[in-house]
Amino acid sequence: MPPAPSTTPQPSFRVGLGYDLHRLEPLAPAGKGRPLMLGGVRFEAPVVEGVAVGPVGHSDADAMLHAITDALLGAIGAPDIGQLFPDNDPRHESGDSRVFLEEAARRVRAAGYEIGNIDATVVLERPKLGPRKGEVRASIAAMLGLDASRVNVKGKTHERVDAVGEGRAVEAHAVALLIRA
Ligand code: MG
Repeated sequence: MPPAPSTTPQPSFRVGLGYDLHRLEPLAPAGKGRPLMLGGVRFEAPVVEGVAVGPVGHSDADAMLHAITDALLGAIGAPDIGQLFPDNDPRHESGDSRVFLEEAARRVRAAGYEIGNIDATVVLERPKLGPRKGEVRASIAAMLGLDASRVNVKGKTHERVDAVGEGRAVEAHAVALLIRA
């Protein structure tokens, strides 16, 4: 017998957490590094020991969009970004990560929620996010159809220690709050 439909009301709020990391390698063709994208905005390539590097990934390797996508999917208990968009699927090779974010937002709405706010942090030695924060917030907000005041981004370094601090990786964290529509 199929389970009876749930009569429990959906909670008023749901919260989701997203995390992502991409290795940084010399830019193609010397390595597999791609141009650095954060929140859909292209940044200058970090230079590590005299070599320009960029994130390695199947898609455009936008760690910030991937973390936000997983925060939204996690908040509604949906499969994660790796399950929905497997990295062996040729459709997403070199793809724009906007597609992942937009699908997550579509699923949020289909589940009966709207996005209250998003807060994201990128951890990267350089370049600095600070001077371009407004641009990144506006980019992510536009993809989600939100006012930019509902999207916040922050940049941190890893104090020159461990992989991120040594310029070998870029990391992003995000939380999303959903409100029942
Ligand atoms: Mg990723």
